[in-house]
Amino acid sequence: MKLITRIQDLPPELAASVSPEESAFIETLTAKGILPFAVTPFYAQRAAELNAELMTNLQAKRDAERDTKRDAKRDAELGVEPAANLPVGSAQPNQDRVNVIRRQFFPSPEEAHILPYELEDPLGEARYRVAPRLVHQYRDRVLLLANGTCAGYCRHCFRRSWTSTLQGFITEAELVPVKSYLAAHPEVREVLVSGGDPLMGTDERLALLFKSLREARPGILLRIGSRMPVMAPERITPDLAALFREWRPLRLILHINHGLELAPEVRAAILRLIDAGVPVHTQTVLLRGVNDRADTLAELFRELLDLGATPYYLFQGDLAPGTSHFRVPLEQSLEIYQELTQLISGLGLPAFAVDLPGGGGKVHLHPRCIEGEETDASGQVWYLLRSRDNILWRYPKEA
Ligand code: SF4
Repeated sequence: MKLITRIQDLPPELAASVSPEESAFIETLTAKGILPFAVTPFYAQRAAELNAELMTNLQAKRDAERDTKRDAKRDAELGVEPAANLPVGSAQPNQDRVNVIRRQFFPSPEEAHILPYELEDPLGEARYRVAPRLVHQYRDRVLLLANGTCAGYCRHCFRRSWTSTLQGFITEAELVPVKSYLAAHPEVREVLVSGGDPLMGTDERLALLFKSLREARPGILLRIGSRMPVMAPERITPDLAALFREWRPLRLILHINHGLELAPEVRAAILRLIDAGVPVHTQTVLLRGVNDRADTLAELFRELLDLGATPYYLFQGDLAPGTSHFRVPLEQSLEIYQELTQLISGLGLPAFAVDLPGGGGKVHLHPRCIEGEETDASGQVWYLLRSRDNILWRYPKEA
């Protein structure tokens, strides 16, 4: 899959929006041998369209403000009362929105700010690795890192230490220990096929993978974690949907963060899967400056529900290096989620959860989940959250 990795290859209106600070940051990353960004032409075009829309709206707001000031001046000169007490620009759409698509794939100099408690492996998956590509943390399910690449790299990604290796699709040799492990562990009922994005593999490779997993454990549930329908909806072909159908029980877990990602092509891709009988669930990361408003989230979840997809998880941000500008402080996140419960019915309400840093596992978040606070020697304040196995773990209190 061809990805855009250079500013000059972005759609022109998007390339023109790159600031000198962003360019300098990209040069710094490149000099260190780090791929600064990678995005599909589809997702970049979506960002370009949104950029154009925001710029048009911004111009409309400036025009409206200028007209309002001119009218006020004229009224004052004529000695008449203003027609209405509307605040300046209030008749215009909200102009303060950032480009929520661009923000998710384009590097920000804020990423250089790495906090001491941010971790290369924020979820502590390494401690549960039972084979080179297999993680067994929860009794009844395993995570298979089927692929090391993605159709575009999310700036908030918590698995970047894995994706930065750019490892290819799992080979037959690498599948041998996976199959042995599954065969020896009947308590495992689900395989989360993730990465990276497993849909970077061809249909043939996916079919071989599914066949191997089912040889080891007939009937085991396959959960395919992917952002592909959002990044490159053309990859969700009728053949792929048919392949998924053939290997049922199989569910797709779609990573989607904003209603603006639901372009007509994305909706069609989701519908292709659902129409083929493939259940689609979604997971969303709460991201500052992208979706940190209850009404924004409610709109996304309502639209997903209307399409037939099930909002499954909303995640508090993980402690990946250089992502503090994306994280919403936990208490604020809880308030947003509480407000969300008032805006949307249980049908469209995902569970709100955090993966406890360092390997504590996933816990659901609710107004009484914070059991206490403690301050370490550096002055950092930590919330205490109880894991499923009844141990208190720390999550940072952030501003
Ligand atoms: S698609 Fe998933 S694994 Fe890939 S960069 Fe985004 S969050 Fe990370």
